[in-house]
Amino acid sequence: MNDLQKRTWAEISLENIRHNYEAIRSDIPKGCRFLGVVKADAYGHGALRVSSLLQQCGADYLAVSCLDEAVELRDGGITLPILILGHTPPQYFSVLADYGFTQTVTNLAKAREYSSEAVRLGREIRIHIKVDTGMSRLGFLCDGDLFESGVEHIASSCRLPGLLAEGIYTHFAVSDETGEENRVFTEKQFSLFQRVISALQGKYGISFAIRHCANSGAVVHYPHMALDMVRPGLLLYGYGDDSGRLALRPGMRFMTTVSTIKHYGKGTSISYGCHFVTDRHSRIGVLAAGYADGLPRAASGKCSFYTSFGPAPQVGSICMDMCMADLTDLYEVKVGSEVELFGEHADIGRLAAAAGTIPYELLCSVTRRVPRIYK
Ligand SMILES: *Cc1c(COP(=O)(O)O)cnc(C)c1O
Repeated sequence: MNDLQKRTWAEISLENIRHNYEAIRSDIPKGCRFLGVVKADAYGHGALRVSSLLQQCGADYLAVSCLDEAVELRDGGITLPILILGHTPPQYFSVLADYGFTQTVTNLAKAREYSSEAVRLGREIRIHIKVDTGMSRLGFLCDGDLFESGVEHIASSCRLPGLLAEGIYTHFAVSDETGEENRVFTEKQFSLFQRVISALQGKYGISFAIRHCANSGAVVHYPHMALDMVRPGLLLYGYGDDSGRLALRPGMRFMTTVSTIKHYGKGTSISYGCHFVTDRHSRIGVLAAGYADGLPRAASGKCSFYTSFGPAPQVGSICMDMCMADLTDLYEVKVGSEVELFGEHADIGRLAAAAGTIPYELLCSVTRRVPRIYK
């Protein structure tokens, strides 16, 4: 890292991500495929770097949210199959075909649009059918009264010319949450998914090479739901309440430095809004990270960061480019000292809770201004 970059940076440990990959791999059944979710720039860790690593480690599949993300990977030399989880407008069919991407199909109308492009161009694409089993987002509705028609729509989609139905999947709403209610909900989603698959086989003779549903929560809590492929994201990066069971390691350390340190008397207000007032003689450090770097302003005054000499409570409003921390009891911390905002020592879960959000959002919020430094 050059000195210019030594303001605020994200240290990415590919070694930790490799460790996590291997830990998850050895936890899932033999023969089960591994899809690494690398959408949103691999949860902020750098999609191309992480994808190259996963390819090298022997992952079977990658998933991204949209066509642009998929193109970035293919252009960057990734040869693994790539599943696009979100919608791709049918006018981009030829890009899907040229790059060999796998497109999610979420209803019959879209299947027909892709198919008519396929026929028009004389090309084919691989598709995965997405079933809505209770997430109520994308996917063929198949619950209750809609079971027969949902299954029929899926069957019709699979039989359209130009669409090679390789896979079928669903997504869980509460597999990462504890409690009986959530367990019942997840099992219900899983059982509906299985009934849809059986009906497609039994009634229409349609089967899929890759059936998948296990996101991070399911990989940890519902190992019997692994089916043909697991689909973890957060877990791969070593975060979440469940990362402990597999002894996973954080992929990112969000780091900053102390820019300056000043002494104030008792009764001095600090930062915008004057919300924090010193109640003693205080030694206050200005850290070179703010909300424009991805430090959530909502956590102002409610979090603390890691220094080599102990936790430093953050005080006053977090500004765009800086924030303040109380170093009164940390006299060893000097100008230029490194501070970990989250990562190995400062728990991302606590920072997320302080900001009223989840680790996912914090990881995706580390901005472009923050250089990623790969170890
Ligand atoms: C984002 C996403 C995942 C990964 O979720 P995690 O909770 O990070 O494991 C899996 N499947 C789909 C469809 C997704 O959108």
